[in-house]
Amino acid sequence: MRPFHYSRPGSVGEAVRALGADPGAEVIAGGTDLVTLLRDGVRAPSQLVDVNRLGLDRLSWQPNGSVHIGAMCRNAVDDSRLRRAYPGLVQALRSGASPQIRNRASFGGNLLQRTRCAYFRLPEFDCNKRNPGSGCAALNGDGAQTALFGASPSCVAVHPSDCAVALVALNAVVHVEGPAGARRIPIEEFHVLPGETPQRETALRRDELVVAIELPPAPPSHYLKFRDRTSFAFALVSAAVAVEVSGGTVRSARIALGGVAAKPWRCLAAERELVGKPFTAPSIAKAGDAATEGAKPRPGNEYKVELVRRVVRRALTELGNA
Ligand code: SF4
Repeated sequence: MRPFHYSRPGSVGEAVRALGADPGAEVIAGGTDLVTLLRDGVRAPSQLVDVNRLGLDRLSWQPNGSVHIGAMCRNAVDDSRLRRAYPGLVQALRSGASPQIRNRASFGGNLLQRTRCAYFRLPEFDCNKRNPGSGCAALNGDGAQTALFGASPSCVAVHPSDCAVALVALNAVVHVEGPAGARRIPIEEFHVLPGETPQRETALRRDELVVAIELPPAPPSHYLKFRDRTSFAFALVSAAVAVEVSGGTVRSARIALGGVAAKPWRCLAAERELVGKPFTAPSIAKAGDAATEGAKPRPGNEYKVELVRRVVRRALTELGNA
């Protein structure tokens, strides 16, 4: 591990200034992902800016029924109102990691965790994300975990977060602070596709800090994750669904997939199959089919197409039965 400076600012402004003053600085929150990357020589920052003492660890309910989740709230957050209002989010958090890890991992860190692509985490392999321009070992390697949607010739990795998938279905907004002040980024625009610059994973600027995640009031939601084993595994395919039904007819629907793209993948075609229709098995089946629209399977990940269809159908069915 390369030596680095460590700073522990006492305010958001101080943290932003520390990031701005050192181009090699990185934020450390819970450290559940970053510490392994430091240990394995995947990341070598000149400075770690610790954001654990900035007062960002609170849930704040707003008069309009929305909630602001501080970026340093832990993934083990246990709040009865959160469970009632956003069951899909709490299911995603609980499926994301062991209780020990969730007690450390933060919401902000969860959004910013790095891909689990094995070649990214092994410095002896070429990886455009870790070392831009070096190539992509995954293109001719094991393709089982690679992306179905939005991949590029530069990178075929997927984003590992469960929480972020639920946040897309729940129409969240990410609040950030930087040298120019505060700004709000819709969660769908927060993560970006790899294109020719897979090293750039989010819309966050280098000297900006995630301070909170805002969730507007949302319809009933549900999260379903399919993985190799029941615990401590990342999603092969997951789906978050949020559906408003009134008088037996779907008034609104948001569906997002995990494990299939470099960002949570919103399924607009599947949503269109639901809105204005009865929330019944035939429309749910059509939504599952539509969720595969635009999929571009690669050698080794063809199984994910059928998995997407089935996970979406089952997530919607379980929501309807809840
Ligand atoms: Fe690196 Fe992306 Fe290729 Fe994986 S898929 S080796 S993260 S460039």
